[in-house]
Amino acid sequence: MADIKELAAGGLRAVLSSLEYARETSGLKRSVRALSLLNQDQGFDCPSCAWPDPAPRERSVVEFCENGARAVAHEADRRTIGAGFFAERSLAELSALSDYELEQSGRLAEPVFREAGGEHYRPIGYEQAFELAGAALARLDSPDRAVFYTSGRASNEAAFLYQLLARSLGTNNLPDCSNLCHESSGKGLGSTIGIGKGTVTLADFRLADCIFVIGQNPGTNHPRMLSTLAEARARGATIVSINPLRELGLVSFAHPQTARGLLGVGEPISTEYVQVRINGDVALLKGVMKQLLRLETEHGNVLDRAFIAEHTSGFEAFRDALEGVSLKACAEQSGVPVETIARLAEIYRQSQRVIVCWAMGLTQHKNGVANVREIVNLLLLRGNLGRAGAGACPVRGHSNVQGDRTVGIYESPSEAFLARLDRATGLRSPRRHGVDAVGSVLAMERGEVDVFLALGGNFVAAMSDSRRTAQALRQVKLAVHVATKLNRTHLEAGQASLILPCLGRTERDLRGDRIQFVTVEDSMGVVHKSEGPLEPAAPSLLGEPGIVAGIAEAALGAEPVPWSELVKDYDAIRDLIERSIAGFERYNERVREPGGFELPNGPRERRFLTASGKAEFTVQALPELALEPGQLLLTTIRSHDQFNTTIYGFDDRYRGISGERRVVFVNPKDLAERGFEPNQRLDVTSHYQGTRRTVSAFRAVPYDIPRGCAACYFPEANPLVPLENHADESRTPASKSIVVTLSAASGEAAE
Ligand code: SF4
Repeated sequence: MADIKELAAGGLRAVLSSLEYARETSGLKRSVRALSLLNQDQGFDCPSCAWPDPAPRERSVVEFCENGARAVAHEADRRTIGAGFFAERSLAELSALSDYELEQSGRLAEPVFREAGGEHYRPIGYEQAFELAGAALARLDSPDRAVFYTSGRASNEAAFLYQLLARSLGTNNLPDCSNLCHESSGKGLGSTIGIGKGTVTLADFRLADCIFVIGQNPGTNHPRMLSTLAEARARGATIVSINPLRELGLVSFAHPQTARGLLGVGEPISTEYVQVRINGDVALLKGVMKQLLRLETEHGNVLDRAFIAEHTSGFEAFRDALEGVSLKACAEQSGVPVETIARLAEIYRQSQRVIVCWAMGLTQHKNGVANVREIVNLLLLRGNLGRAGAGACPVRGHSNVQGDRTVGIYESPSEAFLARLDRATGLRSPRRHGVDAVGSVLAMERGEVDVFLALGGNFVAAMSDSRRTAQALRQVKLAVHVATKLNRTHLEAGQASLILPCLGRTERDLRGDRIQFVTVEDSMGVVHKSEGPLEPAAPSLLGEPGIVAGIAEAALGAEPVPWSELVKDYDAIRDLIERSIAGFERYNERVREPGGFELPNGPRERRFLTASGKAEFTVQALPELALEPGQLLLTTIRSHDQFNTTIYGFDDRYRGISGERRVVFVNPKDLAERGFEPNQRLDVTSHYQGTRRTVSAFRAVPYDIPRGCAACYFPEANPLVPLENHADESRTPASKSIVVTLSAASGEAAE
């Protein structure tokens, strides 16, 4: 089995690893300066995940985690790359560097351009770059030949201007990283409770007496959540973790801000840890709900009948359909014994205020939307929506992915959204829906895209079917990247390519004589400001809003949208957002209040903006999960040394891995059954509708994972996921349930 030396997540190692990474990248002085203001009310928002901050008066002086500290050090890197770096390295030489080496080259310090067929990037001024990008957009045969991709780090101000640019041009081609992660949550929640966001606040975690954590690994992906869970557990709440892998952060947490924690003494987290089979969640949740209906029949005091009658619709159809599913089938498909299912139902019955948290482990499946709807069904049964200490909590993995969607980064906007935007801006926005992430790659493949713009992110690494995505991106005439650091997409995308470096979240953004702040929205719908304290990595760097406005004005002129006026002072952008989008009343005033403000959230007051005006019970089929002999179901995961596609290092100490990333975690019995040895190099091949894709030479790691399941890190395993293998409705790549086989490494480099 993997040799996991750590007994608890966090601890002194977390502090040392943060300091070590800071020393290597930003330098301790710059990092300490930044960290002293990280997640502080007068400071800046963490550029990593979207776990919320406590109320200002409740924040500690060290209001960040190891991965927040590393994200800050990574962005505040004191090394910079400019014209000299690119003059010395051809495209071919840059492409030979690993993803890690590209990002470790340093901060992008000046704009560079590579003309079509060119072997080198050459320096270019921002104004000239805006003209070049603007002209390319203006001469498009159709606005739909442009794609505007957004990563979740973009601020509300930058994202709002970006969507305005796309819609002013005449397209809704606004794919974003939400398409790749919580789109299934948006669809599942939007259709059942009328809002595509979570319904709880951080304060609810202090009141809940039971918290489910499903398909989420907070120890690595939302580490401050561990303090919240440890506090809840310490005051007697029940923590139920449901995850195929036994994640250390859900077992024990040594809080590095306590003496005990620094000594490595961990506080228990999960009261109950259920290692469900990959994609066995619908079956497990159905099993639990069947038990609850049986208990209701026996005791009559399990369901919140008053809530169901007053606030929901569809209960009868839901109940009848559930009666048609056997508990045996639920146990078999989930891999969870009936006794455990019964215990979970009893825990849920005994609990008065229940929060259910989830992440990619639920959303990146063909039935990702169904997973989310089953969670809603469970919450509705006992009225765990719209009251203190209870509700739904999809935890976002990128700091402003929710905010970007709120301010209009969406390929399928509602008529209501567009109508209000048009009234506020004088635009006539396009009504034809655009392409999402999968759709944009398919359109590029068909040669239907001339200009690909990326506001942050590393699209080719984050996308599924990486080789096809790279091939498709190469077809685009011009790629325009707004970024802080060099990455693979910058080298793959576009016959010609423009890289426009921007200020990071940690850096001061001086416009005229005023330091500007931006705003972001966390997973719980709180909008707050972020003002970077650090000297910019290079004096000429522009903020994202200024870059977007520069391109827009070059492409479209200064009417009807006065782009350059708007970025003289970001208050003007916020005033326009206030006029354009519901919920931002008195934006500039309220965002300056300590902690910012909460956006409206109907379900919190039991107002459900659904077709029926009620919260909706729904009926989901049990997923088809049949595997052929020898096949396994593989999930992609993050190591502890990465944030999304950014690799900080090659260790994963919570899983006993050091110095490598090409590993495949397999149940020891499955390994033996196939005649493979631990540490043997294996090729992993995916099977999808008769197609096969292989990634090669992954080391076999025997691991505590259910039979028939396996796991690999992304982006290394993303080539295994066909573009067409995505969730129904949300079209989120099904990266968490990939049908694979293992074979002895052929020695052929498949990629
Ligand atoms: S929990 Fe998330 S938002 Fe908070 S400091 Fe860590 S990475 Fe940043």
